[in-house]
Amino acid sequence: MGKDEKTVMGILYIAATPIGNLEDITLRCLRVLGEVDLIAAEDTRHTRKLLTHFEISTPLISYYREKEVQRSKQLVERLLAGESIALVSDAGTPGISDPGAILVAQARIAGISIVPLPGASALTTALSAAGIMNPHFLFLGFAPSKKSHRRSLLTSLKSSPWPLVFYESPRRIQSLLSDILEILGDRQGFWARELTKTFEELKSCKVSTLLDLAASKKNRGEFVLIIEPDKLICAEGENLSELLLWYRDNTNMTLKDVSRKLAGDLGLSRSKVYQEALTIFKGKK
Ligand code: SAM
Repeated sequence: MGKDEKTVMGILYIAATPIGNLEDITLRCLRVLGEVDLIAAEDTRHTRKLLTHFEISTPLISYYREKEVQRSKQLVERLLAGESIALVSDAGTPGISDPGAILVAQARIAGISIVPLPGASALTTALSAAGIMNPHFLFLGFAPSKKSHRRSLLTSLKSSPWPLVFYESPRRIQSLLSDILEILGDRQGFWARELTKTFEELKSCKVSTLLDLAASKKNRGEFVLIIEPDKLICAEGENLSELLLWYRDNTNMTLKDVSRKLAGDLGLSRSKVYQEALTIFKGKK
């Protein structure tokens, strides 16, 4: 290489692919998949089918969980040498409960440009159709497969004020729902099954009903499960009087229990809260 020549580094594209319906691929993703030197895929056989469908013949290399560290090193070298690479997973957005984070981190350290290509993700697709009013949510990905770990995770989430979002496979949906019912109670739930596919199903009901449905042999397919917070944790009100009013009108809790709860939540003296509660609960029929 001459003195003034320097290699232009390649670009690492993080490409979202469909979660079922092939029409959900973006035009930009198709163009980039056709233009890059290499596609790093979680499962090359799976991605080959997608590429064949769109008549793309870019070479593939595998990039899966067990090989992330070793493969990232090789891919970063190729990027530094000027090759552009697109990373794809089997479905949806790489790095979201899928491999990708290690390659992205190593490419960033090496000073390589990283360009995300937005597209499908089961997470956002499910949330968009759930109709959840809460502007926040907590994404947990897959709950641990070991029962004791799953149960301690759920116990730690008992008083979360945010809707909980899980990914789950048909094999484990029943155990997850049954632990949720036992630990978090019969809350309002929502499942999105087989999103974008022929048998897509969106179901909003109590966890106990979802558990009954999951027990039915018909419920195959991948799931996104959303569990709403305990209603009492979501009490609405800007100040003590408004909160007392909310508890008076939305729960069957006694004046004494409400006072104890709010005193604890707000760090106020129980007698002060009790005095104000007396006035507000006076009007309760
Ligand atoms: N990276 C992907 C994404 O962006 O959604 C998620 C990959 S994760 C290994 C696979 C899980 O995503 C499935 O077990 C399921 O919980 C969820 N999922 C993927 N496709 C789905 C679909 N079509 N319908 C419902 N859930 C789906």
